[in-house]
Amino acid sequence: MQLYNTLTRRVEPFAPADGTTVRMYTCGPTVYNPAHLGNFRTFLFEDLLRRVLRLNGWQVQQVMNLTDVDDKIITRSAALGKTIREVTEPVSEIFHRDREFLRIEAAEVYPKATEHIPEMIALVERLMSRGLAYQAEDSSVYFAIARFPGYGKLSRLDTRQIRAGARVAADDYNKEDVRDFALWKAAKPEDERTGAAWDSPWGRGRPGWHLECSAMAKRYLGETLDLHAGGVDLIFPHHEDEIAQSEGANGVPFARMWCHGEFLLTDGAKMAKRVGNVAAVEDLRAAGISAAAVRHFMFSVHYRKQLNLAEESLEASSNAVRRVGDFAERLAAATGGTQNMTAIAGELQRAATDAFNDDLNAPEAMAALFEFIRMVNAELDAGGADAAGLDAARKAFALVNGVLDIVPEESRVDHSLSAWVEDRLSARREARARRDFAAADAIRGELDGKGIAIEDTPQGTRWKKVR
Ligand code: AMP
Ligand code: ZN
Repeated sequence: MQLYNTLTRRVEPFAPADGTTVRMYTCGPTVYNPAHLGNFRTFLFEDLLRRVLRLNGWQVQQVMNLTDVDDKIITRSAALGKTIREVTEPVSEIFHRDREFLRIEAAEVYPKATEHIPEMIALVERLMSRGLAYQAEDSSVYFAIARFPGYGKLSRLDTRQIRAGARVAADDYNKEDVRDFALWKAAKPEDERTGAAWDSPWGRGRPGWHLECSAMAKRYLGETLDLHAGGVDLIFPHHEDEIAQSEGANGVPFARMWCHGEFLLTDGAKMAKRVGNVAAVEDLRAAGISAAAVRHFMFSVHYRKQLNLAEESLEASSNAVRRVGDFAERLAAATGGTQNMTAIAGELQRAATDAFNDDLNAPEAMAALFEFIRMVNAELDAGGADAAGLDAARKAFALVNGVLDIVPEESRVDHSLSAWVEDRLSARREARARRDFAAADAIRGELDGKGIAIEDTPQGTRWKKVR
């Protein structure tokens, strides 16, 4: 498998260090507002990554943090007269509901920043003892980037650019260098009021945003990760700062591979909460757009290219996945295939696997899937009784759809239902064999009651869920 590594700016072979489990950290949502579709483009890219890693036979240990303390959350909580927890808990629930709707597989761990304050304090203490951090006059603790030689290696910005990028706020006069970033922020009255202040060796305060990821990655995945991912906007300063903290404290490389997904745009501008051009998952659901259509849309463009959200594209994706759904139903209900189907299935499996492993080329894998659907439909039209061909087609389809997951809800085959239908059909065959037509009709009635229509053909009985 090959992936583009932002650290080296090259596509490189990837495998987990221990050969079996990929230890992967993905920066999660700041839970002050429901995540928008832009955020979900990144989370869907990470879902694709997870599924392709597993396709390669590896296990995945994924950690996604929930940022439940930061400036925006505190400002919002203070304005509403609530604690940060009262604001972040319902938003976290919405995040998981939306994530499940979009069929994004659950990460193994979703740690919350507020539940890992001791780990963060320990990390700052370590940076202090190594001379990489200092407490300023405002009581906040900062990372001294001039004392960390590797600073800038991920974003490849030079000192001048970083200086220009560092926002000059009032408290910057406390820092040794404007580029330095806060590890621990001294508590303000607003922090105390909203439950966003903790005791520390440097007085009451709260963690800086970058610190939480370094601390939680270490806690759950160790000092060197196999893979770290996020959206491109996180490369600088967030990931650059995570590297400085983790490598500064641990003295070993922080992540072997850095992967970044490009933006989702609306009308050519980055979708962002502060721009106000955001679309929520809820809006799509209300408009009757299926999760399968959203996944098809997001995977129709390579993750390292920008993607523009337009109504027409979502409509086109809805139509495309309807075809996939019809095909899935037809394949599940088919009673026989053709010999050609074995070769067609082999070709899909090869083409899609190659595409997925070539830096997650989902659009190419999807094109191979649609070609397969066209060809297998033609074979099924011709008719046949080749069980091996049908079996190969079902397996290849399941393998590729196991990554893309683009069969609409209404066409998803319920395996317990299929087993029940097969059982009733075999009872019906037996009843007919002993010429007990009343019993056979009763079974047909039973099936009809569950919305299953049956059709007797020379190749056997076909069934279909019609309601
Ligand atoms: P946030 O909740 O702002 O911390 O963002 C969560 C994730 O969404 C991060 O990985 C961001 O890089 C990503 N993200 C934010 N806006 C967009 C966008 N318009 N397109 C794609 N990813 C985004
Ligand atoms: Zn992070």
